[in-house]
Amino acid sequence: MPTVREIVEEQVREGELYEKLDRNRVRCYACGHCCPIPDGQPGVCKVRFNRGGTLYVPWGYVGGVQCDPIEKKPFFHAYPGALAYSFGMLGCDLHCAYCQNWVTSQALRDPNAISQPLEASPEELVRDALGQGARVLVSTYNEPLITAEWAVAILKEAKAAGLITGFVSNGNGTPQVLEYLRPWLDLYKVDLKSFDDRHYRQLGGRLQPILDTIRRLHGMGLWVEIVTLLIPGFNDREDELRGMTDFLASVSPDIPWHVTAYHKDYKMTDPDNTRPEDLLRAIEIGKQAGLRYVYAGNLAGRVGNLEDTRCHNCATTLIKRYSYAIKDYRITPDGSCPDCGLAVPGRWASKFDGQITSRPFLPHRAAGLFTIADRR
Ligand code: SF4
Repeated sequence: MPTVREIVEEQVREGELYEKLDRNRVRCYACGHCCPIPDGQPGVCKVRFNRGGTLYVPWGYVGGVQCDPIEKKPFFHAYPGALAYSFGMLGCDLHCAYCQNWVTSQALRDPNAISQPLEASPEELVRDALGQGARVLVSTYNEPLITAEWAVAILKEAKAAGLITGFVSNGNGTPQVLEYLRPWLDLYKVDLKSFDDRHYRQLGGRLQPILDTIRRLHGMGLWVEIVTLLIPGFNDREDELRGMTDFLASVSPDIPWHVTAYHKDYKMTDPDNTRPEDLLRAIEIGKQAGLRYVYAGNLAGRVGNLEDTRCHNCATTLIKRYSYAIKDYRITPDGSCPDCGLAVPGRWASKFDGQITSRPFLPHRAAGLFTIADRR
């Protein structure tokens, strides 16, 4: 059975997001690290590597697939109720100690992170997505920017089949990778983890590329939603939350901001779990900054009406939720409030078709996707 490292080294193709430097070195532009990579070495993400002066990147497999309600991404202002066919890859450009997807994201760094990739073609994945009833296809779970070329091959196929496409990302982008993705992407969720550069350096990144990415994505016209996992003692200082929400409101007060509850995971087990009152305090700061659509996540039923979408103008409830389930939907076919007529920012279907599921499920046995080990 091939090891994950062997798969990562064999299932590759020459990348497009790089330039050749002197002495057989290359510079990769798929994420904000912009690694200069010597011959024979991988980049920080461990899945892109330089062999003989050529940058090789992942191709032809996925770390896993899952059918999620789009609310789980979370996108609350994009096709509510839609099934989001979700695929992940391996590796990450950051190494967050609290990662909730560490089995795939840290597969090349942590010997405890064992996963079995599935061999897949864009056609197989899109056929499966359509067969499951998906309306949206999303690259998620690990950091999708580091596999941008392979993602685009799948996104192109998805768009040709009429699917909406999305990225769930840490936002550590570059102008090059965002321009490369732009024609093929509709939705982009950025995980804004902190507003303190020292915290980002603890996670293996920097704050500024993430802020630049958020502003650039919004300027490009993609639909952007932001998530902050609120971790007591790490990113919940009042001045940090004020800085973060002032920044988001300066990009657009219509960007939805999801503040979600942390629970002890992976290597970060010191902070207490986030309480409902912690989320409510952060939400209040977001509202004071001028953000119009703020949501509390991961504590279903314990945060009042902060899972619901309300009209910014007349405060009527437009979408009622419990966790990922849509309980009521009142947005008009043209995307407006039925009471006052205000256009609600987002991407709306002309009608709400209900939900195939409000819980994630695994489709791959039905899909005919096999682990690479099985296929050999
Ligand atoms: S994706 Fe990022 S971490 Fe990976 S090689 Fe490219 S610049 Fe480096």
